[in-house]
Amino acid sequence: MNTGHIGRLLWAKKVFENMSRSVDGLADCEAMEAKDKRDMKIPNKLKIGGHEYRVVFPYVFTERFDRYADSDDARKIIHISDFDGGGNKRAESGISVSLLHEILHAIDHLTGHEQFFGPDGEKRIEALSEGLFQVLRDNKLRFDQCG
Ligand SMILES: [Zn+2]
Repeated sequence: MNTGHIGRLLWAKKVFENMSRSVDGLADCEAMEAKDKRDMKIPNKLKIGGHEYRVVFPYVFTERFDRYADSDDARKIIHISDFDGGGNKRAESGISVSLLHEILHAIDHLTGHEQFFGPDGEKRIEALSEGLFQVLRDNKLRFDQCG
């Protein structure tokens, strides 16, 4: 592991810390858990790298019908729909995975690594998104004082 890897890991940790803080709108963690049983609360804003991304959820895609989430890196906006392209209501777990997916796209773009471009890019990012979601959820990882 070189210093570049450490830097990226620290950045990813910071992204998830910011995401956890956004989720942690209530002072009492147990009250929040009791109140909200969803896997992940979708925040309105996220700090990613040196930028603030606005998260629009639920977003209704009218430009395209073949997607239910995207990251607009030029305008720093993440859009997430609660319906799929066929008009079916999405599961909250799928919406959570979409948020992680779009965060990874934003990191990939901002760092210039472009690891998720090319023919297999979407497969790689989806594998990471699903894997991260499972580990974060099943281990209740929040990276804050609640634990
Ligand atoms: Zn994607």
